[in-house]
Amino acid sequence: MSDNTFQASPIAIASALPRKSRQARVVWRNNVVTVGGNAPVRVQSMTNTDTVEAVETAIQVRQLAQAGSEMVRITVNTPEAAAAVPYIREQLDRMGEYVPLVGDFHYNGHRLLTDYPDCAQALSKYRINPGNVGKGDKKDKQFGQMIEIAAKYDKAVRIGVNWGSLDQEIMAQLMDQNSLRAQPWETRQVMYEALITSAVSSAKLAESIGLNPDNIILSCKVSGVQDLISVYRALAQRCDYALHLGLTEAGMATKGTVASTAALSVLLQEGIGDTIRVSLTPLPGEARTQEVVVASEILQSLGLRVFVPSVTACPGCGRTTSTTFQELAKQIDDYLRGQMPVWRVQYPGVEAMKVAVMGCIVNGPGESKHADIGISLPGNGEAPAAPVFIDGEKAMTLRGEGIATEFQALVESYVQRRYGSGA
Ligand code: SF4
Repeated sequence: MSDNTFQASPIAIASALPRKSRQARVVWRNNVVTVGGNAPVRVQSMTNTDTVEAVETAIQVRQLAQAGSEMVRITVNTPEAAAAVPYIREQLDRMGEYVPLVGDFHYNGHRLLTDYPDCAQALSKYRINPGNVGKGDKKDKQFGQMIEIAAKYDKAVRIGVNWGSLDQEIMAQLMDQNSLRAQPWETRQVMYEALITSAVSSAKLAESIGLNPDNIILSCKVSGVQDLISVYRALAQRCDYALHLGLTEAGMATKGTVASTAALSVLLQEGIGDTIRVSLTPLPGEARTQEVVVASEILQSLGLRVFVPSVTACPGCGRTTSTTFQELAKQIDDYLRGQMPVWRVQYPGVEAMKVAVMGCIVNGPGESKHADIGISLPGNGEAPAAPVFIDGEKAMTLRGEGIATEFQALVESYVQRRYGSGA
């Protein structure tokens, strides 16, 4: 028998822990994207077009921005790419798309930013990898050149360390020190230390050159889930800079999505991470925007942000043998996402709407009542009728071939009524 006695205190409601960080400002025109501090965790992404192809790149930047990317990074790897950056910016401005552009620099960033001042000004933030700025005595000089330009134009900088291009001089020094320990650390632990040392010491150097510490964002990316968690926990304790979080080279499709979600969720729940990128390898023919969809879904699932109306759908089972239910769930999800660029402006608050598409009577009516608008499709052996629930009440029953179209129209009129200007 169960014991129904109430406990003395309620079960705590889970939520992400807070972390205090500095706040960076990534700015283009009147679009100010704050990162860190009390700002919401930001979504960002990166193009995979050739930056030299300015129009193609501007189109992809716009697609990523419309999917919800609040900053978009482009590679700036050659003089031709640097020359194209102002044209990309111009194209976006003409389209009314003021998403800030982030320039990704490796090896020759000091030369490109010096030789192409229009590029340096058109970008809102620079990503600098301390492992790729030069060797020996050139390293600090070339790093310093980029930081001076960032300070001059008041740009934010991400100091982005990656274990694939870790500063080998730092790693060698730490390995030497480690060999002198009575009980040497594992090589993996020395690598964690080298990643953090490279990021934090580069940030301190940037500050000493004159970069506003608020405008510094750090990242230490690795491709293993437990490695990322280990590194970011330590990094978050050792500095108060805003942190860019992402699992590097996450992989393709399900593997990349699951690995990124696993790693980022643990850290975000601990309050670690001020902006995220999901580094998915697109499947052939897959839209680049998928990485933005996954990043947004991670934040929305954790209750940290709300981007698009959510569709609650059951997994289906032996009670749903036709594909009608799956097709309707997909159709509604696609429809809601497709409407968001317009709805975001036209119907403020619509992103918090909940829609349920359920497969049968077992959980269908109950789940639909919890949603703002929901439909419970008939399962096997049930009468061919689909009750629709609006604001918790049964509003009508749909029948026949046109259920999908009729339900979509009901969703649309619900949005207009509830979130429109007259609401
Ligand atoms: S709601 Fe019905 S169709 Fe959906 S999983 Fe549950 S029992 Fe199966």
